Amino acid sequence: MFSFFLWIAWSIALVGVGLALAYRRVDLMTSTIVLGFSILAYTLFSNSHGLLDLVLWIGLAGLVLLNNDSLRRDKVTAPLLRLYKSILPSISATEREALEAGTVWWDGELFSGQPNWAKLTSMPAAKLSDEEQAFLNGPTEELCRMLDDWQITHELADMPPEVWAYIKEQRFFAMIIPKNYGGLEFSPYGVAMVLAKLASCNTVAASTIGVPNSLGPAELLLHYGTEEQKERYLPGLASGEEIPCFALTGPRAGSDAASIPDTGIVCKGKFGGKEIIGIRLNWDKRYITLAPIATLLGLAFKLYDPDHLIGDKDEHGITAALIPANTKGITIGRRHFPLNNPLQNGPTQGKDVFVPLDCIIGGPERAGQGWRMLMEQLAAGRAVVLPSNAMGGGKAAVWASGAYSRIRQQFNLPISRFEGIGEVLARMAAEVYTATAAVSVTCAALGRGEKPAVPSAILKYHCTEIGRRVANDAMDVHGGKGISLGPKNYLGRTYQAIPIAITVEGANILTRSLIIFGQGAIRCHPYVLKEMEAAANPDFEQSLDEFDTHLFGHIGYAVSNAARSFVLALTHAKLSDVPHGGPTSRYYQHINRYSAAFALAADVSMLTLGGELKRKESLSARLGDVFSSMYLASMVLKHYENQGSPEADLPLVEWSCRRLLYQAQEQLHGFLRNFPNRPVAALLRGLIFPRGRMYFSPADELGQQIVELITHPTETRDRLCAGIYSTDEPGNPIGRLQTALVAAEAASPLEAKVRDARRAGVIEDGDPLALIAQAEETGVLTGEEARQLRDLDEQVMALITVDDFDSSELGTKTAPKPRRKKPAA
Ligand SMILES: Cc1cc2nc3c(=O)[nH]c(=O)nc-3n(C[C@H](O)[C@H](O)[C@H](O)COP(=O)(O)OP(=O)(O)OC[C@H]3O[C@@H](n4cnc5c(N)ncnc54)[C@H](O)[C@@H]3O)c2cc1C
Repeated sequence: MFSFFLWIAWSIALVGVGLALAYRRVDLMTSTIVLGFSILAYTLFSNSHGLLDLVLWIGLAGLVLLNNDSLRRDKVTAPLLRLYKSILPSISATEREALEAGTVWWDGELFSGQPNWAKLTSMPAAKLSDEEQAFLNGPTEELCRMLDDWQITHELADMPPEVWAYIKEQRFFAMIIPKNYGGLEFSPYGVAMVLAKLASCNTVAASTIGVPNSLGPAELLLHYGTEEQKERYLPGLASGEEIPCFALTGPRAGSDAASIPDTGIVCKGKFGGKEIIGIRLNWDKRYITLAPIATLLGLAFKLYDPDHLIGDKDEHGITAALIPANTKGITIGRRHFPLNNPLQNGPTQGKDVFVPLDCIIGGPERAGQGWRMLMEQLAAGRAVVLPSNAMGGGKAAVWASGAYSRIRQQFNLPISRFEGIGEVLARMAAEVYTATAAVSVTCAALGRGEKPAVPSAILKYHCTEIGRRVANDAMDVHGGKGISLGPKNYLGRTYQAIPIAITVEGANILTRSLIIFGQGAIRCHPYVLKEMEAAANPDFEQSLDEFDTHLFGHIGYAVSNAARSFVLALTHAKLSDVPHGGPTSRYYQHINRYSAAFALAADVSMLTLGGELKRKESLSARLGDVFSSMYLASMVLKHYENQGSPEADLPLVEWSCRRLLYQAQEQLHGFLRNFPNRPVAALLRGLIFPRGRMYFSPADELGQQIVELITHPTETRDRLCAGIYSTDEPGNPIGRLQTALVAAEAASPLEAKVRDARRAGVIEDGDPLALIAQAEETGVLTGEEARQLRDLDEQVMALITVDDFDSSELGTKTAPKPRRKKPAA
């Protein structure tokens, strides 16, 4: 019996040594030496003699041989390299360009299975410059004051001329253009904060201004334009003389934008009275924002050169050009009507439009580089415009819903007191906290020169989905008040506009299913892209050398992730490294755990499914969700620190992290349940969930703490919703709501007096005004107190009322009068 326990103890110790070496990612040579001594001790002292010892010694011999570089290369790596080349899934040129676009930042750490937190925690917080702050306090605030949502969305179906003029004059369209061309040269964070403020009051202005500051002519010129093109166009774009648009999408090419059928043929033709080599263009595009009023049309098309006038290729591929919108042969000006959000958006066609070669952005040498240019710029831009719009709209919805639910009473209580409403309010607030964290921290990274393609896709997808959920929730909290459109409605148009953000810049289903993990797996993985590049090297010796380094790095990484995943799950990550102690330290540890589990699952699925993984979109999407949850949770932790770790905000941090990590767990579980190779799935489950699923979603009590924070005028409410247009003035119901909330808070003891008096039978039931009158008469309230309550009631009624219209005010055309039926003879 004793010898059995001795053997068990030694076996556990040996496994422990192996796990510790893998967990700590100790190099191959050191691991071989340590394992050698451990196996020797095991054989000598554990009373184990037999097959197991033999297996251990054979395994050790294998490890020793692997330490011999030339033996390993020739006998192991070379055959594996040949096999790898034969099964490597084909990657198209456009996929490769998307994969190579941008940089790898914090996403790479999360993919490593062992994130180096110092990389994130040491990054300074995003900060507005004095100029950006002044622009927010001045022109942005003034523009918000000028924007009349109902006038724009219903009466004019456009912004009024004075608003257009102000936008141009104040250079809202030029936030990303450098000062030497007349622009404002704002940081990504500065741009995001301006757009967020605008989105908090009017989605048309926010999207209209977002477009020229995102992927489009200015951005492309800045990065790829020739000096001559920059001088020619940028000053006009900065002053608003030129209105740009960028046309990629067409009826046949939406999500699959690289399949555009629009053509440009290099040929000779007459231009300005002279015969030149130029391009004859034909296109049919739709959904193009600003196209109906554009003066400068950015166009993506496929360039062909059948007569080899500019090179020896027949086909150059997708090319981007800038063309004055009044060029002969262009049809432009008609409008689409995107969900009552009348931003200028419409189709354009071109028939045999002849333009000179220098219309190509960057000149003829950039022919065929259009797709790469677009992908590179999307790698950063996707993290700014749509996420900040969603953040601004979400903040306004939380600000309004927190106040509205406090002042709106049903069943003699503010509706915020009902748990059902509280659950929704807590979710809204925490989701907006997550979006805010993601935008501000990612913008800080962009400001430092990162162009993180995968985080940008994560932000595009998750912030717009958060925007959609928050808008939905705000509608529910407001009931009929949110539904009845009119000047008094501050929610309806944002709610209507949400699907636009969901659809543009990579529609969300596609982004989740194909881009986040599909691109991330190869882009952020520490070895896969390097292995692919090594395998593609035509020089076999060099290829073998590089492949050997990356392959064995990869194997070590995979073994380590399996060990880390198992140990971290067993210990509930309690012993893993964190950047610092304190109330949030457990969340850092759980991210460590999911990072290892995710890296293991990603590796195994790439190994077992190979190219098939691209088609298994549901699996790919679930892994993308796990990755996104870790990314967003780390943004929340960093944002909390950036704000000085205010204790009062902890419920928001905890709720956000808990929900995100719970989702990571559930999506990993869903991934394993659906993984086609069942034995592999069982093995993975043993390593990832050896104790089952032990993480829980946020508790109701935590949600109630958040409700208290956002339905009262607290510092947390101010911090969470900072940056929206909340000035108290007649045209801004969002500002009025805050004033009413403060008044309701001040009147709370008086309302309690009235309630107590009614319960005690001192006054009788009645409507609020009757109750106040009785309370005054019976001395429950002083005259001054009664006046305070009447004032509050007046404010509340002004805010909860909705608009009504005569039928003739609503339709754009008058319905024909119904003909009277002739009376029967
Ligand atoms: C208001 C508005 C403004 C726009 N502005 C511009 C602009 O300025 N310039 C411009 O060039 N374009 C613009 N667009 C076009 C926009 O980028 C496209 O609408 C978008 O790319 C989606 O294309 P689609 O609408 O044709 O949808 P489709 O491509 O038909 O997609 C329909 C659905 O299928 C999903 N889907 C497609 N392929 C896959 C896949 N492989 N896996 C999973 N799901 C998939 C999509 O996610 C989507 O849910 C704008 C669109 C709108 C609505």
